Amino acid sequence: MALLNLPGVRVPRSSPPTENWPAQSGCPYHDLRRKLREVGLRPTRQRVGLGWLLFAKGDRHVTAEGLYEEATKARVPVSLATIYNTLHQFTQAGLLREVAVDGAKTYFDTNTGDHHHFFVEGENVLQDIDGELVSVSALPEPPPGMEIARVDVIVRLRRKQD
Ligand SMILES: [Zn+2]
Repeated sequence: MALLNLPGVRVPRSSPPTENWPAQSGCPYHDLRRKLREVGLRPTRQRVGLGWLLFAKGDRHVTAEGLYEEATKARVPVSLATIYNTLHQFTQAGLLREVAVDGAKTYFDTNTGDHHHFFVEGENVLQDIDGELVSVSALPEPPPGMEIARVDVIVRLRRKQD
C-alpha cells in the first residue's frame, strides 16, 4: 500500500505508521488529514501543508531549515518557529523520528521503522542502514527502574584521502 498513493513512493516493510494506517481512500489530502486525526493532531492547514511536503516523497531526512526552504518554495505560509513546533508534534505523535547527528544538527526521519544511519561528515548526508545489518551486542544493564527504549547507531563516514 503506497503512502498517499503517489507514484515513486517507497514504503519499507517495517514502517509502523504506514502499516497502522487504514486503507487509503485514494485522495492524498483526505488520507493525510485522517492520519493526523488518528494520532490526535487537528489537521490544520499548516500541518496538512507541512505533512504533504514531508510524507509525499517517500522516506527522507529533513532538517527544520530544509523544510522551511521547501515550504517557502511551495508557498506554504509558515514561520521557522511553526516548522519546529510541527516537527516536534509529529515526532511526539510517532509520525517522525528525530535523529540527532550532533549538538547542532537534528534531522527528522519519515521512516520510523527499525534502522540506523550513515552520516557523511562535512557533507551533511544522512543515509539509512537496514536495522538487520547492525548488531549491537554487550549493552550495559540500564540503571535500576530503566529499560532500553531504542538503540540508535550513527556510523560516521569521511571521504578516503588518496
Ligand atoms: Zn533514516
